[in-house]
Amino acid sequence: MIRRGSCLCGALRYEIEGDFDGVWMCHCSNCRKTSGGLGNTIVIVPRARFRWLAGEDHRTTYAVRPTYSITRCQTCGTPLPAEEDDTNVYLTAGTLDDALGAAITNHIFYGSVADWAHDAEGVRYFIERSSGPEAPR
Ligand SMILES: [Zn+2]
Ligand SMILES: [Zn+2]
Repeated sequence: MIRRGSCLCGALRYEIEGDFDGVWMCHCSNCRKTSGGLGNTIVIVPRARFRWLAGEDHRTTYAVRPTYSITRCQTCGTPLPAEEDDTNVYLTAGTLDDALGAAITNHIFYGSVADWAHDAEGVRYFIERSSGPEAPR
């Protein structure tokens, strides 16, 4: 099975092959700033199962620390991927255009979770839809 993804402006496009066990969510303070949200959500993709379709050279990398860098589209700033090494691409799950068929299986750095990262009592859900993959309901 092939799934595709892209950055916000479409300059970066990729495909991944096969099925995946799940998504890792990191709640560390660096991942919160990287995403501007709750944290980073990552699918670990072996290099042999990841292919760039466009834009591999249209990226810029910021080294947060020696073992953690974030790569973004030069035009729209979408983090894609979060990190890569000789073995794996740490793909930002929110860039997928197809449904993943998996769920969050691991929360890491949960000791650093933001104090606002939970539903308030009486939280309201608005069910507008956008393009892209959606959870089944
Ligand atoms: Zn872009
Ligand atoms: Zn993190």
